[in-house]
Amino acid sequence: MNRINSICRNFLCGASSDYKNPPNINWDICCMTKDEGGLGIKEAKIWNKALLGKYVWWLANKKDHFWVRWVNHVYMKDTSWTDYMASSDCSWSLKKIVLIMSIFKQAYVSNNWLNSSKEYSVKAGYDWLRGPQPKVEWSYVCWNHLNLPKTSFICWEFMHKRLPTRDRLLRMGCPIDPVCSTCCQAPETHSHLVYECAYAIECFKLLHCRQHICLRVQELVHWFSTVRRPTKLQKRFIGACHVAVIYWLWRIRNEAKMNAVVRRPEVLVSQILHDMKARVLALNNAPPLPRDQAWFQNL
Ligand SMILES: [Zn+2]
Repeated sequence: MNRINSICRNFLCGASSDYKNPPNINWDICCMTKDEGGLGIKEAKIWNKALLGKYVWWLANKKDHFWVRWVNHVYMKDTSWTDYMASSDCSWSLKKIVLIMSIFKQAYVSNNWLNSSKEYSVKAGYDWLRGPQPKVEWSYVCWNHLNLPKTSFICWEFMHKRLPTRDRLLRMGCPIDPVCSTCCQAPETHSHLVYECAYAIECFKLLHCRQHICLRVQELVHWFSTVRRPTKLQKRFIGACHVAVIYWLWRIRNEAKMNAVVRRPEVLVSQILHDMKARVLALNNAPPLPRDQAWFQNL
């Protein structure tokens, strides 16, 4: 299971399967759901336990299955599944299932799973093993379906402060100039790159004029719910433009570093709006509401 996790982790950071260096983002974070700030990847060790929980469910419910009848007849006999301890002559696989049995005993007994009319599902077992996790408020903006996947991924790294900005590279020991390559005026940090850099402020100001949005993702979430009542499509469009700007700020920073070229903010914002409108028209099968049509014409 560790090997499977390692191959998945290396695939995510574009490395070969035997890559040994630590990943850019903790694997535990990647394995959280998108609502919790992760990528929704299944953690192989926990998923394996949840799958084995299905056998425990069969044994606990005396499922009419050949394997269950055999285990009951040969090993468990009249012992209750909650009290059964694996004997030394048990197979390796049964010993593992008995181990999982002791983990799931609490869920089946204390959480009344056995009294429920529902069948055990691997997803329910997986969620129970992971336990309740706090949610993040920005996942709606980050994983909006109008976003391009590459923009969502960069936004996700940004929200976790895991982009390889110059301050992080310096902390890792890379001999690098700390000054922002886009504006050449201040040290480059996550906060500077998106919220404080003169270039970023100008980009968001142009978007602000066109769409009336605020600067930070957290403020955007607040704005969606309280300040105004945009339609669902408008919310998604604004969120997607915001995420696209974060992606492009990172890309422009890289272009400035490699080629010493920075495109004008008005060109960038016009391009983002043009691309997003084309994407909305391509993805939206239903005709837009009259309110949306008027809003789009004013962009
Ligand atoms: Zn800057």
